[in-house]
Amino acid sequence: MKRWINLHMPTNTCNLNCHYCYVHKVTNKLNQVELPLYKIKKAFDPERLGGYCLINICSNGEPLMPENVPDMIQCLAEMGHYIMILSNGTLTERINALLSFPEELQKRIFIKFSFHYEELKRKKLLDVFFENINNVKKSDCSLTVEMVACDEWLGEAETIKHLCIEKIGTLPHVNIPRDERQYTLGVLSKYSLKNFILMWKDKGFESELFDFRAQTFGKHVDYFCYAGIRYIWVNMKTGSMTQCYHTTYIQNFFDLSKDIEWLPVGNHCCSPWCYTSYAFMPIGIVATPEGVKNYSYFSVRNRRTQDGYDWVKPAMRRVFEEGVEQIELTDSEKGMVDERNAQFPVRKPDRNVVINRLLANWLAQKMQYKRIGQYFYRNGYHSVAIYGYGQLGRLLENELRESEIEIKYIIDRDAVQIRKECSGKRIIMPDDEFRDVDVIVITPIIDFYKVRAICESKCNIETLSIENVIYGNDLS
Ligand code: SF4
Ligand code: SF4
Repeated sequence: MKRWINLHMPTNTCNLNCHYCYVHKVTNKLNQVELPLYKIKKAFDPERLGGYCLINICSNGEPLMPENVPDMIQCLAEMGHYIMILSNGTLTERINALLSFPEELQKRIFIKFSFHYEELKRKKLLDVFFENINNVKKSDCSLTVEMVACDEWLGEAETIKHLCIEKIGTLPHVNIPRDERQYTLGVLSKYSLKNFILMWKDKGFESELFDFRAQTFGKHVDYFCYAGIRYIWVNMKTGSMTQCYHTTYIQNFFDLSKDIEWLPVGNHCCSPWCYTSYAFMPIGIVATPEGVKNYSYFSVRNRRTQDGYDWVKPAMRRVFEEGVEQIELTDSEKGMVDERNAQFPVRKPDRNVVINRLLANWLAQKMQYKRIGQYFYRNGYHSVAIYGYGQLGRLLENELRESEIEIKYIIDRDAVQIRKECSGKRIIMPDDEFRDVDVIVITPIIDFYKVRAICESKCNIETLSIENVIYGNDLS
C-alpha cells in the first residue's frame, strides 16, 4: 500500500451528543459531499497518487451522516483503494449501504466503531450499536471497536466488559483521550497520566492499542518523520492538503493542474508530540521511539471473538501488516527537504493565548472554591518541586501554601537572583541535584517537553505540566 490519506469530511455534526465532545459546542451543520464523483475519481486516481492508498474518512462529527458518503466510499473502493471509516455505529441505514456492496469491495472496507457507552445508554442505542457490529462481523468488511477511556466509566468497567462479551463476544480496544484545551495535549482526566494508565490497566481490557498508546503518549518525536510522503491530510470541502495535523498548507489537492508535492515533514513537526502515534507508528508513517515495543496496525486493531472470528479479515490484514510503503530518503535528499520545509511559515503557538486560557480556567475554579491542592491529594502526591519561578510558578506556590502539600524546593535558572529577593526559600538551579520528591510540576508550558527531557536525564522523579494540574483539577 502506497500511503495513508486522511480525508477530512465537512460533516461538522453528529446524531449523538457525548458530554466530552466539542462538536455541538463549536458547530452543528450537516454538509453533504459536494464534489461530483467524476472529480473524486480524477483526484484519487492511483496513478496520480503513486499507487493504491489507505483512505481514512473522518470528520468533526459523525462521517456517515451525509447521505452520499456511501457512494463516495464505493467510488474510492472501486478504484482499488482501501477505506477506513470512523463511526459511532448507530446509523444502520448507512452501514447497511456499505454491506450491500459487492464482496470484493467489502473486503476493502474497515469500519472503526467508536464506543460511546454513556451516550448510547442515554439514547437507548446500545442494542442498535451491537447489532450493527454483528452485521459487519458477518460480512466481508473488517471492523474494530474502540472505547475512549473516561474517568466516569472507571466504576462501570466490569459492566461494560460483561456487556461486550455478551453482545459481541470480546472486549473493545481502549484508547487514552487527550485534552484539547492543553497546549501540551495531556490526558483528559482528573488523574495524572501515570495514575490514569495504572487504573485502566487494572481494569483488564488487555488492549494492545492501549498498551502502545500508553508507551507513546506525550512522547515528542525529534527524529525524521515521513508524514507528507507516506501520509497526507486532505480537507474534502476545501481541498486544503497538509503533511500532517499541525503542519502547514502545501497545496490544493483537488487542483488537478498541479502534480502533488510529496514533501516529508522531516525534522519540522510542530506538534508537541505525535498524538496519533497509535496509528502512525504501527502503520509505518513515522518510526516508533527507541525502547518502545513495536506493534503492527493489525495487532492494535484486531480482536478474535469467542466464536473464532477475527475482526480484521485476511485482505485488510495483509494491508495492515504490510503498512505504508517505506519510501526512504538519502541524507542529501533529507537536507533538501529541510530547505524546502523552511520556505513554509512555521505554525508557532501563541504563548499569551496558552497562558491566558489556563489562567481563566484557574480563576473560574477559584470562584467555585475548587482548590488545586485537591489534584495532588487525589493523585497521591504529598510533596512537590516547582520548576520555573515565573508568573505561573509563583501562583502555584501561593495556592499550595494554603494546602498541606509540601513544596520541597523550586528550580529556576535565575536561582541566584531569586534567592536574594526571597530569603528562606529553597531555590536550586537546573544543574543542581534534584532531591527526592513525589512530583516535579513544570510551569513553562511551551517548553514543557524540553524541560521534561532535562528532568528525565537527571532523575526518575515523575513530572507533570502545570496544564495537567489545572485542567485535570477542573474535571473533578
Ligand atoms: S459520537 Fe463522536 S462526534 Fe458524536 S458526539 Fe460522540 S464523540 Fe462527538
Ligand atoms: S504528529 Fe507525528 S506523524 Fe505528524 S508530523 Fe509529527 S511526528 Fe510526524
